[in-house]
Amino acid sequence: MADASDNHRPAVVLVTGGAGFIGCNFVRHLLASDESLRVINYDALTYAGSQANLAGLDTTYADRYRFVHADICDEEAVAQVFKEEQIDTVVHLAAESHVDRSINAPGAFLSTNITGTYVLLQAARAAWSDRTDVRFHHVSTDEVYGSLGAEGLFLETTPYDPSSPYSASKAASDHIVRAWHRTYGLPVTISNCSNNYGPYQFPEKLLPLMITNALAGKSLPVYGNGKNVRDWLFVGDHCGAIDAIVRRGTPGATYNVGGCNEWANIDIVNLLCDQLQELVPLDSGSYRDLITFVQDRPGHDMRYAIDASLIDRTLGWTPLHKFENGLKETIEWYLANGDWIEEIRRTKYDGQRLGIVDKK
Ligand code: NAD
Repeated sequence: MADASDNHRPAVVLVTGGAGFIGCNFVRHLLASDESLRVINYDALTYAGSQANLAGLDTTYADRYRFVHADICDEEAVAQVFKEEQIDTVVHLAAESHVDRSINAPGAFLSTNITGTYVLLQAARAAWSDRTDVRFHHVSTDEVYGSLGAEGLFLETTPYDPSSPYSASKAASDHIVRAWHRTYGLPVTISNCSNNYGPYQFPEKLLPLMITNALAGKSLPVYGNGKNVRDWLFVGDHCGAIDAIVRRGTPGATYNVGGCNEWANIDIVNLLCDQLQELVPLDSGSYRDLITFVQDRPGHDMRYAIDASLIDRTLGWTPLHKFENGLKETIEWYLANGDWIEEIRRTKYDGQRLGIVDKK
């Protein structure tokens, strides 16, 4: 929604990766919160993206919403969309996003996350020339900073030290986006966010994997000793942060986004089990009985934690969801969307372990 302090007023927004988890929540957020916006959702519909995540948008917002089924690495398709639409804002979310998959098959991460970002930047430059009333916002991860010990927080100035092929590819894309600002003057912004949770997250990621496995009576695989710590943010809060940066962020700036909400993996899985027990009680035993400690992820970062004071202080953004409520809301969404889970389990992913390195 427009605000007096906005320094950018988007009119036509190209959202890449809008059929994925954060993307579909962000597209909904944009369309619902600002009725003057036109939104172009550009997505290749990989295993992680789905039209089922976007059900109803093309009818509810028929005159303001368009879906383009194409790859961000396809230079012609990207140029074409810039030609057809008066895009003044790019929110770039399209990515290969799962660390475990990046361990097994890193190639797609390098092409989509690095080359795809480059293709978008070049298309934006070509379309926008020297315009300053435009924005290119790049959505990235706190994983670029590597691993923390027991103390400390990631600042925007923390040196990059990525561990996985996923985080290394995101780090590369962040550097490229920054270089396009410094070298060509493209008005870019970057956000590095902690772990998101909420509706529509693909059930390969920790929380939806645990929810869907628990509901199917399957074991709940916790990596290593379960003591790795992550900061968790409700996806709707992340969408609000991106919106604030696009409208009020300073071109060239990076903003860390997080929930100030650190949890060890085992503690979060225990909490999830307890919330499930309240919502869908088991006749005997507890969901906690399904927890199984499994071989750790190679290169598993120990702790991520965010200092989000810059975005709070300068843009007035702070998370609104209390974690326990957001988690309950998330579980309730998965309970109400059994068909969505079933379709993924049947056609795309059935909970198998990913990301083990084959030494041979
Ligand atoms: P996701 O895997 O759920 O969705 C990614 C989307 O990108 C999918 O719709 C997919 O079809 C699309 N896509 C993939 N390759 C493409 C290509 N070559 N061309 C066009 N579209 C393509 O990912 P997500 O969890 O929604 O993450 C979105 C972004 O946010 C990513 O850039 C990720 O690095 C970043 N991020 C995610 C988290 C998180 O916790 N999920 C946290 C911080 C940052």
